[in-house]
Amino acid sequence: MKTIAIIGGGAAGLMAAVAAKENTPDCRVILFEKNASLGVKVAMSGGGRCNVTTGIFDVCELLKNYPRGAKFLMTAMHRFPPEKAAEWFEAHGVPLKTEKDFRLFPRSDNGKDVVAALVGELRAKGVEIRCGFSVEQILKKGARFKIILKEGHEENADAVILTTGGNAYAQTGSAGDGYAFAQAFGHTITPLRPSLSAWVIRESWIKNLAGVSFKKAALTLKTPGGNSYQRTGALLFTHRGVSGPAVFALSSLAAYEPITIEEPFNLLIDFFPEESAEEMNKKCIQLMQQNPQKKIENFLDMLFPKSLCRVLTELSKIPATTIAGNITKSQRALLVRLFKAFPVTAIGYAAGEEFVTAGGVDLSEVETRTMESKKCPGLYFAGELLDVDGFTGGFNLQASWVTGALAGYSASTIIFNATLISGERRTVTS
Ligand SMILES: Cc1cc2nc3c(=O)[nH]c(=O)nc-3n(C[C@H](O)[C@H](O)[C@H](O)COP(=O)(O)OP(=O)(O)OC[C@H]3O[C@@H](n4cnc5c(N)ncnc54)[C@H](O)[C@@H]3O)c2cc1C
Repeated sequence: MKTIAIIGGGAAGLMAAVAAKENTPDCRVILFEKNASLGVKVAMSGGGRCNVTTGIFDVCELLKNYPRGAKFLMTAMHRFPPEKAAEWFEAHGVPLKTEKDFRLFPRSDNGKDVVAALVGELRAKGVEIRCGFSVEQILKKGARFKIILKEGHEENADAVILTTGGNAYAQTGSAGDGYAFAQAFGHTITPLRPSLSAWVIRESWIKNLAGVSFKKAALTLKTPGGNSYQRTGALLFTHRGVSGPAVFALSSLAAYEPITIEEPFNLLIDFFPEESAEEMNKKCIQLMQQNPQKKIENFLDMLFPKSLCRVLTELSKIPATTIAGNITKSQRALLVRLFKAFPVTAIGYAAGEEFVTAGGVDLSEVETRTMESKKCPGLYFAGELLDVDGFTGGFNLQASWVTGALAGYSASTIIFNATLISGERRTVTS
């Protein structure tokens, strides 16, 4: 019997195993996972709720959410678009709900249900699950692969699907092992960078803002090299920096921009993206006229959370005892500038806290229609190991489902066809 070995039991590996076994039930499919259980990162994703995919079903719109790999994903996304992924989970006992920004979550708010649906399907279909087995080396002998496990065992396979993930959140098992496996077969690994990451901020007052959040802020990032990136979305101040979807998206867009303490990023925050500076100026005049006796900090309190009012007062250099009625035109202009372009200095990424890895197996070396290696027939890739990454919103898991499904389907189809040609198998089961 022909064997497909899948290395890594995360999102892509689980979906690849389902697809391979569904496509050709006669194939032997073995799934190796170094952890004691499958889908560790999937279960913890989305804060444990698992933003399983996106409700953006228009493929062109969908692909705008992948700073790297959009073109490569085109064929795969047409074959297995988010609505199909959603249908699959619903049909396998995971009803979904749509939240803000078209994010799809299990109605149970439990990522473990997503993993359970996939694992249940693997068990029902007879996939051999080998948890607690870490693959150490993969060799090719003639047309077959030899998989050498750290635990001392070996296994032979006719096709190998590499789904070992990136190297973000390495404690979940995705420690970047697949990069070395791919390189051993002649593949190029593009430079790896953290993406979907919070930033550490230089300003010492940042610790006083921990927990302050805005549903909608417009962020402009200026790099030392003179590049500029913009994003509007939710923003969260943490005890040492800035986080939230808008920051994550910017970190993804600027993933390859160098950032150091000496050469930091300048970030300008517009707390009122829907109002122009002129409108904000008018609003200030109105509030000042209505509350002339309020001290500056209490006046700002009408627009901002208290901890931020203190910081704004300090930065404006307006004496704390100044009452609203006495604020001068130039002081008001300065305040409006702070409301619309509040400056912070990002000196680095929150190391080890990024959600995904940008970079990976060079896409020009992988067939877009099958996920097969152009360098080594029978070797397939799927998931974050590839040089593909998306914004937050279910896009990364969607990329893993789709590339996993395509790799599993292609590997089993090719093996199945080869078996027919060689005459090893004469009956077709579907
Ligand atoms: C905290 C966090 C939250 C996230 N939330 C979301 C979200 O809500 N929505 C979303 O779309 N994306 C989210 N992501 C991103 C998403 O989880 C990943 O992009 C996705 O899981 C990648 O799938 P994968 O199968 O490629 O890799 P992984 O899911 O990382 O799986 C790889 C597996 O391979 C195993 N492995 C590695 N090396 C070996 C080896 N040598 N032998 C055997 N097994 C091996 C690992 O143990 C691991 O289980 C989140 C990521 C993080 C870190």
